Amino acid sequence: MRNSSSAPVRVVIVGAAGRMGQALVRCAGHMTGVQLAAAVDRPDCPAIGRDAGVVAGIGETSIAITADLQGAAAAGDVIIDFTAHTAVPDSSRIAAALKKGLVAGTTGLTGIEKAALVRAAQDIPVVWAPNMSVGMNLLFAMVERAAGVLGLDYDVEIVEVHHKHKKDAPSGSALRLGEKIAKGRGQDFQKVAVYGREGITGERPVGQIGIHAVRAGDVVGDHAVSFAIDGERIELGHRASSRDCFAMGALRAAIWLNGRKPGLYDMQDVLGL
Ligand code: NAD
Repeated sequence: MRNSSSAPVRVVIVGAAGRMGQALVRCAGHMTGVQLAAAVDRPDCPAIGRDAGVVAGIGETSIAITADLQGAAAAGDVIIDFTAHTAVPDSSRIAAALKKGLVAGTTGLTGIEKAALVRAAQDIPVVWAPNMSVGMNLLFAMVERAAGVLGLDYDVEIVEVHHKHKKDAPSGSALRLGEKIAKGRGQDFQKVAVYGREGITGERPVGQIGIHAVRAGDVVGDHAVSFAIDGERIELGHRASSRDCFAMGALRAAIWLNGRKPGLYDMQDVLGL
């Protein structure tokens, strides 16, 4: 499965005509260590047959978007799936059958769909993470460490801002930040999380983790975490200004995972955190 160390990892992008797929095609075009091998989308996608690079706005790549995942996957080392949750079982099954690595960034998986990834991970290496940004994953590790050092006396508030089209709130990443902070302080996140506040709320109890979602304009994704105590405030945060940060993280995961032993990994593993 592993290429010689100097050869670029050949990636097969599934969902190539989508917002993330296009970002992946663009980033694969200039990132060292990876090479676009194939591009796949749904049979009814209007971009089928078109050049993946043209669709992504970087010009000709000589790789046409196909609906044949099985055939396309044979041309690559690692499959990268940013599609819809319903597509993940097929990608998992085909990757496992062909012994290709799988990087799955698709979110909103049902239990059955997640089980397909777990099953594939018995035969192939799989990286699955709902946020593949390198910076955001570093922030997850940083807030856990900060929370452990600062302890329960510091009031923690998480504020996330996303574009007005986002359908869920709070973001999965805000929840993950909360879970990491709770872990760092030895708490059960579900018991201490408070989502927004309104009315006569009373004084803030010690140990609470406040989470607030703002929806406005075209913001790709901002997350800010404050640790506050009388006399000082520590603020850690992350701002995504384009989808490229997720694409670059996914490509980095593809390079890391190629040739690794079977198992289910996340971005914390990829980054050695
Ligand atoms: P999108 O709707 O713009 O693109 C999805 C693409 O997948 C479309 O082109 C669609 O035709 C294609 N597709 C759907 N079903 C398919 C199938 N069965 N086979 C092949 N192609 C199929 O969506 P998007 O904004 O690119 O996001 C895609 C997924 O990635 C979502 O689940 C989103 O939440 C997730 N996402 C994850 C991260 C991360 O860091 N993990 C970041 C951004 C988005």
